[in-house]
Amino acid sequence: MNSYLIKSATLADGTITDVVVYDGSIKSLKAEDGAGLEIIDAKGLMLFGGFVDMHTHLREPGFEQSETILSGSKAAAKGGFTGVNAMANTSPVADNAAVVELVSNLGKQAGYVEVQPIGAVTKNLHGEQLADLASMNSSSANVRVFSDDGICVSDSLLMRRALEYVRDFGGTIAQHAQDPSLTKGAQMNESELSFRLGLPGWPATAEASIVARDVLLTEQTGSKLHVCHVSTKETVDVLRWAKARGIAVTAEVTPHHLMLTEDLVSEYNTLFKVNPPLRNHEDVAAVRTALADGTIDIVATDHAPHPDESKACEWSAAANGMIGLENAASVVIKAMIETKLMNWVRFEEVMSKKPAEIAGMKNQGQGVVVGSPANLVLLDPASTYLVSPDSQSLSKNNPYVGLELPGQIRHVFFNGVATVRDGKLVEIR
Ligand SMILES: [Zn+2]
Ligand SMILES: [Zn+2]
Repeated sequence: MNSYLIKSATLADGTITDVVVYDGSIKSLKAEDGAGLEIIDAKGLMLFGGFVDMHTHLREPGFEQSETILSGSKAAAKGGFTGVNAMANTSPVADNAAVVELVSNLGKQAGYVEVQPIGAVTKNLHGEQLADLASMNSSSANVRVFSDDGICVSDSLLMRRALEYVRDFGGTIAQHAQDPSLTKGAQMNESELSFRLGLPGWPATAEASIVARDVLLTEQTGSKLHVCHVSTKETVDVLRWAKARGIAVTAEVTPHHLMLTEDLVSEYNTLFKVNPPLRNHEDVAAVRTALADGTIDIVATDHAPHPDESKACEWSAAANGMIGLENAASVVIKAMIETKLMNWVRFEEVMSKKPAEIAGMKNQGQGVVVGSPANLVLLDPASTYLVSPDSQSLSKNNPYVGLELPGQIRHVFFNGVATVRDGKLVEIR
């Protein structure tokens, strides 16, 4: 059980190899060690360490009509992921040991991916009092990343205290950078288009100014900061400066900010309403360059499921967010590989190795290495597919439906268990 011989797979660096998966681990890279095992023909397929998502909204507990930990885990597996980090803005909020342990245990029961809970920074996400960060860290869920995502920790003193507090146990604060005073009622990127459409604008400075403050606080406290969903060229400039200065900051970009622009808003299709908003072509070019050169460390989906009624309404009333797990790798291939901005080695870094490192997930991101857990994904770089509205997610707010995207996910193994075979999700229980 859970043992396979993967034949003739292509690694990120172009090497062609056989891989023996035995009892959940990578046992050998020699075919003869896998004699008698079930054979997976991987000719022409790329083999990577399973993808790791640093930023996923699984919605359970509290919003199970949008997504559950099981449905979100299935969507993740279908997209080639073997690990996800579940954001804390559930109901109840994941701001204490009991809720993070619940999320972690439901993830284990689902069994499709490793689900690591992110704890809230402040009680109830109210931005007033720090949550009990140490007790979430020392709980069985062993929380290492904390975020009020959805809401910015905008109070500077509270942000400073949070950074100081997690420093003692090596934790990280992941910030949703959005100055609330600059974005009251904001509906889309602030631009000529927002004036023309008559929609209140969301200025780039609302993001970059918080990131500038936070990197300085991080330097002062000697702590660790992760910046969620970077969307503007100004933020990229701030990050470049901070990294050159040696500040311990990491950053993510979403697939949608790598590919989609504000122009899509002009027909008021609420599928394109997202926080932070879609920006302009210059911003997309800037985040692409930053991901290629390491200023932005990783891709994270910000998978944000919403029920139809939250999207089937007028623009100003619609919820922010898009689902993204199942098509994430394809969008990155289209935006970064097909444009030759990035090679497959960098692809594996931004999709698997670095997010595992930032999230502190020790059983993820090791790539194809003998002795490590068999968390693996095989994708077909030569194939394309039409994105259909059918998905594993309980929500349908997918902005890519109808597009043709490259890089079908063919097989996925989570701790040696096949979760996807021949492009189809395996019902594992
Ligand atoms: Zn956010
Ligand atoms: Zn989010």
